[in-house]
Amino acid sequence: MKVVKSPGALTEHILKLKRKGKRVGFVPTMGFLHEGHLSLIRRARKESDVVVVSIFVNPTQFGPKEDFKRYPRNAKRDLKMLAAEKVDFVFAPTVRGMYPGGLQKCVKPGPLADVLCGPKRPGHFRGVVTVVKRLFDIVQPDLAYFGQKDFQQARIIEEMIKRFHLPIQMKVCPIVREKNGLAMSSRNVYLSQDERIRAGVIPEALSLAKRLIRSKTISLKQVESKVVSFLKPRVDKLNYAKVVDAISLRHAIRRKGSVLVAIACFIGRTRLIDNILIRV
Ligand code: AMP
Repeated sequence: MKVVKSPGALTEHILKLKRKGKRVGFVPTMGFLHEGHLSLIRRARKESDVVVVSIFVNPTQFGPKEDFKRYPRNAKRDLKMLAAEKVDFVFAPTVRGMYPGGLQKCVKPGPLADVLCGPKRPGHFRGVVTVVKRLFDIVQPDLAYFGQKDFQQARIIEEMIKRFHLPIQMKVCPIVREKNGLAMSSRNVYLSQDERIRAGVIPEALSLAKRLIRSKTISLKQVESKVVSFLKPRVDKLNYAKVVDAISLRHAIRRKGSVLVAIACFIGRTRLIDNILIRV
């Protein structure tokens, strides 16, 4: 496993391998790895010849009052885990290496960023697509792996790939959960024992939504109201709980195609997101 800091050096390694016909699979992360990340990496290992994992806590996707500085980091532990997964390259650039011209956010995320988490985290998706486009330029992957956990992010990147005609096949992998159903996240480390238990209401709300949608007895709008009423008294602050069309991320009116139930809320001071996709 090679750990590479310099974007130019990584591109050089990759181009050599691509000239030999190797398929490059790429998993972008912000580190502090858990089983969710590992599930993406294992899939990449199965489907590609060369696996590249990036570890980069991207400053441009954090708001001024968000947790960029205290975001959990543990490079030593991450590298050990990645070596055990037989990753070929770890790309761990510096902020200056990724943003040599300063912290501009030069790629626009498009209208999918105007809904769900977008209004709650102004500039977040602009930072995400900017860094992912730059990572794609450096890594030049054939396959890129993302988690359904960040469904909106995955949809926005999917549209960005289309918009720039990038020759990248995107794979969205299922959400890996803790025993109580809580979606794994590097930020779960912020939760106290009590908060971790209380956070179990989020997957419960998603199961409730699924049951209600499958029962076909009430409208999707009514399902949404029920989920909101269930969550509001049980979490510390509800950002949103929505039932939307899985393509447009806007309100699902017709019962057709895939419906996404998406939740963002605070447990204590920690903002958590989760979702479920339901085929209707
Ligand atoms: P992050 O390090 O949080 O930026 O996540 C890196 C990638 O891992 C993203 O594509 C996430 O969607 C994905 N991911 C994070 N948590 C999970 C999880 N619990 N299950 C599956 N994928 C995940």
